[in-house]
Amino acid sequence: MRLVSTLTILLALGCDGGSSVPEPDPSESRVWLRGDLHLHSHHSTDALDNRMDAIVARAESVGFDYFVVTDHDNHVDGMLATWDDPAYRSDAMVLLYGVEWTSAVGHANFFGAEPFDHPALYALREGSSGQAIADEAERQGLHFSVNHPLGSDPWELGFEHDIDGIEVWNALFLVPNDNEGALALWDTLLAEGRRITARGGSDNHHQETSEADLFNLGNPTTWVLAEGRTPEAVIAALNGGHATVSYAPSAERIDFTADADGDGVAETVVGDSVPVGELDFRLVITGARAGATYALRVVKNGATFLEREVGADPVTFSDTPTERSSYRVEVRGEVPDAPSAGAILFGDMVALSNPIYVGFDD
Ligand SMILES: [Zn+2]
Ligand SMILES: [Zn+2]
Repeated sequence: MRLVSTLTILLALGCDGGSSVPEPDPSESRVWLRGDLHLHSHHSTDALDNRMDAIVARAESVGFDYFVVTDHDNHVDGMLATWDDPAYRSDAMVLLYGVEWTSAVGHANFFGAEPFDHPALYALREGSSGQAIADEAERQGLHFSVNHPLGSDPWELGFEHDIDGIEVWNALFLVPNDNEGALALWDTLLAEGRRITARGGSDNHHQETSEADLFNLGNPTTWVLAEGRTPEAVIAALNGGHATVSYAPSAERIDFTADADGDGVAETVVGDSVPVGELDFRLVITGARAGATYALRVVKNGATFLEREVGADPVTFSDTPTERSSYRVEVRGEVPDAPSAGAILFGDMVALSNPIYVGFDD
């Protein structure tokens, strides 16, 4: 455990923390929704055996609340067929509209609450600036999220231009992409004062091959805290950074909140920014396994702020930052719900959160 002068760690367990332990906000009406933000169907030519009806059925069976398919646009010369597919429907899940903008200078997913003008985005390919792409996404009200920024198809347009999100966890945590590097990249951007939503994506291409034994839909799962079960609410939650990532649909979820006004209620959620001043943080590992212990790491401004073995009981800690700061959380441990063939390749990352921001609105 690392202590700094302004830090008062309360690490209260259970109910014995007294009045200093913030309570969850009882007025909270938002709902956590889970899904996968990077999938390919048979409308991508490298996923021809991934039939849409089979993906939808599997997504429903593993409990997804929202659903999106992000097919490669270059496989169909920019003329997407994904959302015109009659099988792209569900009564159980909120449907988003997505695509993987797939170019020689990088890949990015765009998400909308309704079908959008993809040819206008497809026209902005090699030779276009990142900002031109960002401007077109903003014009259409889309969430623009860079994929596997350091993977085999890295993002080569830099990060000076606006982006809404970044895929810090693609497929298995340890391979094939540099997810640790993506987290470090994201930390650097956060430290520069950027507010960029981290998300996961399985990048699943197949249900019938060995790939599906390594990882499948929801490895990893991105949770969003939405103001309702609507596509607009899911997009708003992504834009607001109200999101966490877990290694599987059935895995533990991080619930990371803070009390910024001293009223004893932890009403600040991940993605929010509060004024500089004292903060009482509260962390709960929702769905923690009986008897399991987890390695908690709190990252403040890109550096380890707190490390602690934790279990199912709520953890609280406090800090009084004096300048713009961000606090995000990682939880590592066993991953028993990983597909068995891929368990080793998942490593030990159970879940991670977006930051609670301090002073980013100033
Ligand atoms: Zn890609
Ligand atoms: Zn992909």
